[in-house]
Amino acid sequence: MDTETRIDIDSLRINGERLWASLMALAKIGATPKGGVCRLTLTDLDKQGRDLVLGWAKEAGMTVTIDKIGNGFMRRAGRNNSLPPIVTGSHIDTQPTGGKFDGNYGVLAGIEVVRTLNDLGIQTEAPIEVAFWTNEEGSRFVPVMMGSGVFAKAFTLEHAYAAKDTEGKSVKDELTRIGYVGEQEPGDHPIGAYFETHIEQGPVLEDNDKTIGVVQGVLGIRWFDCTVTGMEAHAGPTPMALRKDAMQVATHLMQEVVAAALRHAPHGRGTVGMVQVHPNSRNVIPGRVKFSIDLRNSTDALVDQMADEVKAYAAKLSQDTGLGIQIELVSSYPAQAFHGDCIDAVARAAKKLGYSNMPAVSGAGHDAVYMARLAPSGMIFIPCKDGISHNEIEDAKPEHITAGCNVLLHAMLERAGT
Ligand SMILES: [Zn+2]
Repeated sequence: MDTETRIDIDSLRINGERLWASLMALAKIGATPKGGVCRLTLTDLDKQGRDLVLGWAKEAGMTVTIDKIGNGFMRRAGRNNSLPPIVTGSHIDTQPTGGKFDGNYGVLAGIEVVRTLNDLGIQTEAPIEVAFWTNEEGSRFVPVMMGSGVFAKAFTLEHAYAAKDTEGKSVKDELTRIGYVGEQEPGDHPIGAYFETHIEQGPVLEDNDKTIGVVQGVLGIRWFDCTVTGMEAHAGPTPMALRKDAMQVATHLMQEVVAAALRHAPHGRGTVGMVQVHPNSRNVIPGRVKFSIDLRNSTDALVDQMADEVKAYAAKLSQDTGLGIQIELVSSYPAQAFHGDCIDAVARAAKKLGYSNMPAVSGAGHDAVYMARLAPSGMIFIPCKDGISHNEIEDAKPEHITAGCNVLLHAMLERAGT
């Protein structure tokens, strides 16, 4: 206790070299020749990764709980263990051509926080836990963010268990095979607050030359399928004025998707990523064009406003051209704002530590989105090279890895109490 009272908490720093070494050790499991990682969820390699991380947790004196969807919770006791734990975590599964940092960083940063507290014998008031969530990536089994989704009751355990990969293997069978069906009911596990550290997976921090992104929330998403129906005709004999060219009309609407996003800056996003042209022949005027519309923004009101504008434009376009335009909603994910207290804790920690920082939003989904439904939650972003992830060339600088973990340490200590 005497030593503890002499420690100046503000001067506490994690061991960046140790964290980096752990990241590189975990990245060896499923390492690809191009320097990335392929460790798909619930494979033998995933089991090896899980075993390694849990081994490190046990070496650090933590106790381990696994729930029925294979989420892992590694716990460091506090002084008052009736308090709900302050939790951090992320995922250790990767995309088929994934990188070393996506998800893995968030889990190993949590382990490094605990190792740092152990080094100095610092006890927290509330317990601290580090979680890894099953199948965040959704590459082998859908839905994405499966473990955290079951935990937050966004869908049922049975629904998740029944999901099959392309070979017809189910989540339940594969989870059983690798020995990760735990005892605990998913969600039957208190969370006092949740922090997740992650690479940004976008170019904003790098572009602004900032070390820390104080994440305000995750963008709401609306997915539509749009079909423009005209009339196929020969590209030669049909004069321009007498055509019903579905492609020409579709391109106007595609421009409007981008324009709607630009009108609702700074967080508006509008993307047409998938186009099918019928009959897709060089000398035929396209009779039908089907394309995807992906709209995102920081609040549901803003993303719905964008959708309304695109639909109104489509209605007018249809009237002016006489071509049919159908827009159908296929998926909707609500925007998720993070908790003011957690956002402030991250911002305060970054400022106290002297790291350049800026508010950030996440355009991608994370396990923290589901945790935010259950407990005050926040995220810490660090830059990644050229904003690239879900790619073997995904890269992050050691000093940024260290900085993000230091912010995590201080944000968690503020919540957990020392
Ligand atoms: Zn991730």
